[in-house]
Amino acid sequence: MELDLKPLDLHCDGERPFVIAGPCSAETEEQVMTTARQLASKGCHIFRAGVWKPRTKPGGFEGNGEEALPWMKRVKEETGMAITTEVATPEHVELALKYGIDILWIGARTTANPFAMQAIADSIRGRDIPVFVKNPVNPDLELWIGAMERINQAGIKRIAAVHRGFSSYEKKIYRNQPMWQIPIELRRRIPDLPIICDPSHIGGSRELIAPLCQQAMDLGFDGLIVETHCNPDKAWSDANQQVTPEVLDYILSLLIIRNKTVTTEGINELRKQIDELDNNLMDLLSKRMRVSREIGQYKKEHNMTVLQTSRYNEILDKRGAQGSLCGMDAKFIKEIFEAIHEESVRQQIEIINRK
Ligand code: PEP
Ligand code: MN
Repeated sequence: MELDLKPLDLHCDGERPFVIAGPCSAETEEQVMTTARQLASKGCHIFRAGVWKPRTKPGGFEGNGEEALPWMKRVKEETGMAITTEVATPEHVELALKYGIDILWIGARTTANPFAMQAIADSIRGRDIPVFVKNPVNPDLELWIGAMERINQAGIKRIAAVHRGFSSYEKKIYRNQPMWQIPIELRRRIPDLPIICDPSHIGGSRELIAPLCQQAMDLGFDGLIVETHCNPDKAWSDANQQVTPEVLDYILSLLIIRNKTVTTEGINELRKQIDELDNNLMDLLSKRMRVSREIGQYKKEHNMTVLQTSRYNEILDKRGAQGSLCGMDAKFIKEIFEAIHEESVRQQIEIINRK
């Protein structure tokens, strides 16, 4: 195991995933208190708000800084919710601790910077506070784990990873691409590490919050962090993706929570079938490679090039279409055949160069 962890021990009611909610930014004392009271009345236990906001361009609202920290403290005192904010420098850490912030979170841009991560880790050393680490902006699992290792090596054992998606040049449906295979691989590598999904920054728009929350539950994520504002349309940052506390409560009430502890007996028989099918696939693939090597031998004897582009395109198009007919995604089938073709070419080149 790469991290030495302790359970988070955060209060949650068991039926719902643990949920962190609150505005993107702490804008005014009134906005913070109104949102917090509404969330508390819906049974939310952890309140988030950004006090220092990393903005892509200068000139936007960069957070109220220290001025907003007493508002957070007031949320804790009046509603009993735990409070969390983003820290990006040792100075932020000092101030957050001074005002009784219960959980620190590291933003995506900071996770991507090892110098900043080390400086933060050094400033937290010796304090027992949970730290939630968002994935770096770029899809780099090692960088994400490395950031958490730095925090862990500073003696922090209550750590959670926050999946907020990965930025890309092309914006399609999502503001940040979920690339679910990355948090799934993180779960495989560090099974005890809680993973929290941030559907707000993945989706970038309100209508994507509910399906993304459900997807996170289907994948067995441990919690959610959802941007919530008393008046989303008027938010000073990330207005498109914030929902009211009432809408959040509705979204959560519709979530189907999968049971992680059900025994797997019922699917053992099906798993046996999958094992057998996988064996058949291997067998077929190795037969295909054998034929491909024979073709390689023929190409060698006739001094032909290994790559015959027209044939390759024909295979990809045909298989993609066949895949669609069998109810599979054409892109998926194309990718599989690209991989098979790559291995075939590698094997044929080996044959051609054999003395
Ligand atoms: C945020 O949570 O408001 C935030 C700035 O997130 P990220 O670091 O994921 O962009
Ligand atoms: Mn935000």
